[in-house]
Order: sequence, then C-alpha cells, then structure tokens
Amino acid sequence: MSKLVIVGTVAFDAIETPFGKTDKILGGAATFIGLAASHFNIDAAAVSIVGGDFPQEYLDLLSDKNIDISGIEIVKEGKTFFWSGKYHNDMNTRDTLVTELNVLEHFKPVVPEDYKDAEIVMLGNLHPLVQQGVLDQMTKKPKLAILDTMNFWMDIALDDLMAVIKNVDVITINDEEARQLSGEYSLVVAARKIHEMGPKYVVIKKGEHGALLFHDDDVFYAPALPLEEVFDPTGAGDTFAGGFAGYLAKTGDTSFENMKNAIIYGSTLASFCVEKFGTERMQNLSNGEIHKRLLQFKQLTQFEIELT
Ligand code: AMP
Repeated sequence: MSKLVIVGTVAFDAIETPFGKTDKILGGAATFIGLAASHFNIDAAAVSIVGGDFPQEYLDLLSDKNIDISGIEIVKEGKTFFWSGKYHNDMNTRDTLVTELNVLEHFKPVVPEDYKDAEIVMLGNLHPLVQQGVLDQMTKKPKLAILDTMNFWMDIALDDLMAVIKNVDVITINDEEARQLSGEYSLVVAARKIHEMGPKYVVIKKGEHGALLFHDDDVFYAPALPLEEVFDPTGAGDTFAGGFAGYLAKTGDTSFENMKNAIIYGSTLASFCVEKFGTERMQNLSNGEIHKRLLQFKQLTQFEIELT
C-alpha cells in the first residue's frame, strides 16, 4: 500500500443544471478527489486552503473519511475559493460564471511531514505553481505523480503549467482541454503531443463518452456507464482522478496493465458522483454499491469472440 498526497481546491460551488440550482455548497477538486480516494482505505492527506467562512462540518466530513486534513490551511480573515458554473442542456458542456480565487491567490502549500515521502502524488486542479510547490517538498521522487488541470490555468498561467507538466508521469485532462493544450483536434495526435511535453501516460476524459489511456503506442478505452439520469456532472473529473489515484495507491502497482483497472475504478466512482448535486452522492456511498457497479461495468464491456 502506498501513501497518497492530494492537492487541489477545497471550495464553495454554486451550480446550475437543467434540473435545478444550488446556493453555495461544498466543492473543490481536492474534496472530490479525497472522497473518491477514501474508498481504498489508504493513508491519504489533502493539501489546500480555505477561509474563515468555511464550515467546520465540511472539514470534519473529510477527516471522518480518514483523510488527513492537517495540510488544509485555514486563513481566518480570508474567503474560501468560490466557483460557479452553469450546464447546458446536453450536460456535457458548461460555462464558468464566476471564479473567485480569494485565499488561493497567496497560497503556499505545506505537505504534512509524514507525507513528504508519499509514493503517489495527485496534483488536482489548482495553480500550476502550487502543484509544483508540492512536488518540490517531496523528500524522495514519488513513484507516480499525476496531474489534473483545466482551461482556466492554460489561459492565465500556461508557462507555469508547461513547467509542471514536464515533471509528472500521468496527466488527466478532458478532451476539450487536451485539444487546447496541444493545438490538435485528433485526440490521438493530441495525446502524442502531450506525451512529448513530459507525461508518460496521458488520460483523456470524455465525459459521458468515457476515458482513454495512452502510453507509447498502447491505448486503452473505458466507456462511461450509461446512466438514466445525470443530475450534476460537477466533480466527475476529480472523482475519476481520485478513484484512479486511490486504486493505484492501494495496489502499489503503477504498470499500464494495472492503470486499466484504475481507469475502471475512476469511471465507476464518477458514475455515482453525477447522480446528485455536488458531493451529496459521494458522501454516503457504500462499498457494496461500488462493487455492484463494477460488476455492471464488467458486463458492459465483456464479450467473447472467436477469431480464426
Ligand atoms: P470538475 O467538474 O471535475 O472539472 O471539477 C469541478 C470542481 O473544480 C468544482 O468543485 C470547483 O470548485 C473546482 N474548480 C473550478 N474551477 C477551478 C479552478 N480554476 N481551479 C481549481 N479548481 C476549480
């Protein structure tokens, strides 16, 4: 079993989908990653920052799931990162309405002492300099550094982003962002170009159309589980990343073959995340429910064919 360090936003989100609208609720990349990774019973720590306006019960929620929160700084006089987004009718695309960095603007991450030798580092969506700051604090080179990012950082901090991308083993990114980062429309060509930027493994998330894993000339594809109802896709990408990183930390095996299973775990957990607003579904998800859905996943993709 490996230790996992998670860095990312711990946030307030306000979300609007064709099904309804929320006030400020719990969100943030590190929150979703942590909730997903907590299902693997591993030692995991979250590194982030919140303001004095952040409710203690939200922090308790993470520590009750065995996530070490000593690396979440609380700035009493500051305001928590706030993001607001509105989904289009197809639920695959969204507009960001508001991004207020608040306390994130001057954030200097501090990795808890016990986690400076963690084998797996999950650099969730956050300023690339903060992501690099976490890597710099590791006392030995992690077995696997995984990075997630979004168009926002490509728009405002591309050079910093390119610098940290060079230092990671895996990048998880959605299809539109892969196109923006590489300047290529074909995802196969985009993955190759991103691979040349540094990461040996490139995971491209395609929302309801699943995820692709590229490594040299190998490609693996996992569909998303067809769901009757998608209520709110917020956090699905982070939940996927949390499942992916959590499974790799649990098994300690970072081979391409095992990454295929990690993709399946990530997709399975993400399929729950979208069923309710925000983190609601992930807060009370049982291992039995996950197991059942993994079986469904297996049935969905398994077939026997005789090739002569
Ligand atoms: P996802 O739907 O997986 O892309 O992630 C949505 C989560 O990302 C929300 O909970 C937001 O709080 C968080 N988020 C949105 N914009 C940013 C940003 N620029 N940097 C970091 N986290 C963000």
